Amino acid sequence: MPLLDTLGRPLGSLRLSVTDRCNLRCHYCMPEDEYLWLPREDVLSFEEIGQLADLFGEVGVGRVRLTGGEPLLRRDLPSLVAQLAARPWLRDLALTTNGVLLAHAAPELKHAGLHRVTVSLDTLRRDRFQRLTRMDALNAVLAGIDAVRSAGFPDLKLDTVVTRGDNDDEIVDLVEFAREMRAEVRFIEYMDVGGATSWRPDAVVSRQEILDCLSDHYGDLTPVDETSSAPAARYRLPDGTTVGIISSTTQPFCRTCDRARLTADGVLLLCLYAQHGTDLRRPLRAGASRETLLNLIRAVWKGRADRGAEERRAVRGRGAYIPLRLLKKDSHLEMHTRGG
Ligand code: SF4
Repeated sequence: MPLLDTLGRPLGSLRLSVTDRCNLRCHYCMPEDEYLWLPREDVLSFEEIGQLADLFGEVGVGRVRLTGGEPLLRRDLPSLVAQLAARPWLRDLALTTNGVLLAHAAPELKHAGLHRVTVSLDTLRRDRFQRLTRMDALNAVLAGIDAVRSAGFPDLKLDTVVTRGDNDDEIVDLVEFAREMRAEVRFIEYMDVGGATSWRPDAVVSRQEILDCLSDHYGDLTPVDETSSAPAARYRLPDGTTVGIISSTTQPFCRTCDRARLTADGVLLLCLYAQHGTDLRRPLRAGASRETLLNLIRAVWKGRADRGAEERRAVRGRGAYIPLRLLKKDSHLEMHTRGG
């Protein structure tokens, strides 16, 4: 029997953050100069991550996505990948990365058993990349994307957060680039989650605007008919190329959300917008039994009513979700801690 929450949503996937650190400072996620980091001693070891992941596997999770911060900053990540990839309950093991360190890591990750890679890529222009991320790393990211292809990963996605006046003039360029790389680009609406302290409604480029831009250039788009808990709605261009759009801000999809999140220090979160989580690290380190931890996870998921993006959409006069003074007190409220 699948484990269902109060809205009948099964627990199906887990976003596993392996570090809260990041080597970029993207304007929609980490725009500040200073951050509060998780204490190093609180960060789960690979063995602890494996123990907790197995519990999630037991209650229905079949898909795991490794995230950060930037997950490739975690030392020896391929050994965690190899451990997880060997779990019989795991059907899909993916990684979301900013790509800066990927050129070197891709062959080892493939060898370790990673199934899929998603690379964040918001621009193809070097000066713009530097302005939007505060690092001159576009060439490294492009080399990383090449390396994913050379390593033989069958599935590559490129995630682009579209923000008005920053990169909304590159939508077609990014589709063309993705096609060249045999990848699928997914355009993501700018979200007002914790950490997005500069968020404002008029900076959001909506799904409809992205669709209009694509159909102006390519002609009619056909929605891809599929039943999935994946966040992207997919569309086919007249030549068969597919693109995805993740419309978390204007057309949220909380009703099909099957994702749990585990922070690098073992806090279970039920939503990207959740303000509180459940600490699994303390009971795990205190020697709680498997059954106790399983019951805790089951109880938390069964009580889940979260639908953060839908609730945010109903807010009038919407601005940044979490005030900076609160972010400075609790790093768990940051998107880079909860694996965006
Ligand atoms: S806002 Fe929360 S419930 Fe809605 S899709 Fe995102 S993580 Fe899931």
